[in-house]
Amino acid sequence: MADATPLYDTYARAPLRFERGEGVWLIAEDGTRYLDFAAGVAVNSLGHAHPHLVSALKEQADKVWHLSNLYEVPGQESLSRRLTEATFADKVFFTNSGAEALECAIKTARRYHFAKGQPEKFHIITFEGAFHGRTLATIAAGGQAKYLEGFGPKAPGFYQVPFGDMGALKAAISEETAAILIEPIQGEGGIRTVSKEFLQELRALCDEYGLLLILDEVQSGVGRTGKLFAYEWAGVTPDIMAVAKGIGGGFPLGACLATAEAASGMVAGTHGSTYGGNPLAMAVGNAVMDVIMADDFLQHVRDVSLVFRQGLASLADRFPEIIEEIRGEGLMLGIKAKVPSADLLKAIRAERLLAVPAGENVIRLLPPLVTTAEEAREGLARLERAAEQLTAERRQASA
Ligand SMILES: *Cc1c(COP(=O)(O)O)cnc(C)c1O
Repeated sequence: MADATPLYDTYARAPLRFERGEGVWLIAEDGTRYLDFAAGVAVNSLGHAHPHLVSALKEQADKVWHLSNLYEVPGQESLSRRLTEATFADKVFFTNSGAEALECAIKTARRYHFAKGQPEKFHIITFEGAFHGRTLATIAAGGQAKYLEGFGPKAPGFYQVPFGDMGALKAAISEETAAILIEPIQGEGGIRTVSKEFLQELRALCDEYGLLLILDEVQSGVGRTGKLFAYEWAGVTPDIMAVAKGIGGGFPLGACLATAEAASGMVAGTHGSTYGGNPLAMAVGNAVMDVIMADDFLQHVRDVSLVFRQGLASLADRFPEIIEEIRGEGLMLGIKAKVPSADLLKAIRAERLLAVPAGENVIRLLPPLVTTAEEAREGLARLERAAEQLTAERRQASA
């Protein structure tokens, strides 16, 4: 029977099978070419089969694949140095995924207060609509009932306040609060941008109460918003930050970054990972940084973002029955649909354009950062045809 698969039934997969990728394109088994603005949910930051990444991985594959953290790994030293030189951070812990980067961030914050003689300070305040991963701690941090249900008691120490509600946030702070955790732009939540002012107020609040500010830049980081990290737009810095997705360009890689002070509790033996900082991952992570840190690369992201934003604004004007609102920064863009977003997603897929669903009836456009202006216009043309098609269908249905 074709429908009996030994795979867990946890994913609602689209019936598409891709054989290979080239830049912003994915090529299906039957040869059909799709414009990939899903980019593996913001992971394929440099598109598919980027020559510099391919050669870095192949070169490392011929040398050594895995060492564990029993020994020094030179790739970890170079990548951590580059990350700390480019950010607020002094210290880096490498992981294999976003959720693990968040686990490290949460442990780092709790351990900081523990080491200061305040073990009662372990509560983390998060925001409604957040997504921080699928481990037991990160579903508690995300606070979404649909991800928590049936998995036993919610991990203790996570408290959630409404998105953007400073009053509720202040009221939630107690003697037991260790940290505030927030995505500068909620991804899964529906491309909801936290205002610059709100992030600045969060920083001030954390300083006032001796709390640590943890940013989840798993999706918004590594050039996605046109800065290396989204926090740069607000001119404030966190104490701890979780990074993953784009940093590996498709190779499983994450990192937890922290100031020396925030990481001061994480002494020898307090944390570990078998694969974290694996030589293959380090080779690719360093190669991603070569490209993203090159002169003008982030300017390119901002320029292409403008092409998208202007095109999307014009589509929103012309198809008010289909599009309610355009959201986001850089190449982390959202289309809030008037029609069910699943219909819009299906219509654009029929035009061989790929995007990602999100909360609040939004579809996410997360094109590779190497997308050219011409490829952006091609995507916009496909979106336009999908909107025309949906409009025609709706008129027919109501006639
Ligand atoms: C994807 C994501 C995560 C979880 O990353 P995984 O690699 O799936 O564990 C956490 N936070 C944010 C903001 C994400 O987008």
